[in-house]
Amino acid sequence: MIRLKALTKSYGDVTALDRLDLEVRPGELFAFLGPNGAGKSTTIRILNGITRLDSGEAFIGGVDITREPLRAKRLCGMVAQHNSLDGELTVAENLEIHGRLFGMGRKERKESAEEHLRYVEMEDRSGALAKTLSGGLRRRLMIARALVHRPRLLFLDEPTVGLDPAIRKRIWSLIKSINKEGVTVFLTTHYIEEAEFLADRVAFMNKGRLVESGAPQDVMDGLGRWAVDSFGDGGMATRFFAKRSDAADYILTLEGSGSVRRVNLEDAFLSLTGRRVS
Ligand code: ADP
Repeated sequence: MIRLKALTKSYGDVTALDRLDLEVRPGELFAFLGPNGAGKSTTIRILNGITRLDSGEAFIGGVDITREPLRAKRLCGMVAQHNSLDGELTVAENLEIHGRLFGMGRKERKESAEEHLRYVEMEDRSGALAKTLSGGLRRRLMIARALVHRPRLLFLDEPTVGLDPAIRKRIWSLIKSINKEGVTVFLTTHYIEEAEFLADRVAFMNKGRLVESGAPQDVMDGLGRWAVDSFGDGGMATRFFAKRSDAADYILTLEGSGSVRRVNLEDAFLSLTGRRVS
């Protein structure tokens, strides 16, 4: 669904993307992780035709985004991180305008808008002004809007940032169900547990390059299943173990205090790059 070959982009002296190679398979729920400045937004902006690449190649669904940008754009839906709804328009009008921008006929866009409003369980809000919606409802409306032209690939940039945990879980189940319907999902997030829960595959970006990709469990298994955090004179340290019993034995040898927990993706990223994702 996405194929990037040696994708490169610089802003003056800053190399945002450094010969990035990446593939996302059709139907995958893919999470793109990395600390601020790693190059995630630049990648998404290039794929959505907002920023031009310097060199390299980018294909969406086999379409070269440089040669046929409009055809590539029609295959994509985009949910930006910040509220991009028109607050002075109603919920239904926000969807209607999106359908028009994508050149859909009146009947087709009305049907799709109604269908997707039902899909995000907001059919009773269609007449409300977008500015009156809560944060969770706004996010759901943005997701519905991104689906109106029936894209095959959905970009979600930090889809649950700033939402409380219960609402976040609801958005997660919505994302899963969109993906089950066959839409490929490309997700960026700072919430490691979001990537662990949702993604079939994660990729770690650091300094414009891909440092690792794989199924979340496989990436974590590279370290072991268990971690011991210990606190001593030298500050905090973490060691990893394949077996829980080995982790427990290790704690007994510590002079200071320590605790056992499951390994997470943050551990994997930190051990690969020396930096934290979140
Ligand atoms: P991320 O989304 O992973 O936080 P970005 O793609 O936003 O990373 O940024 C990658 C690098 O490119 C950073 O060093 C950032 O400062 C730089 N950068 C991004 N956009 C611009 C811009 N419009 N002008 C100058 N530098 C930029």
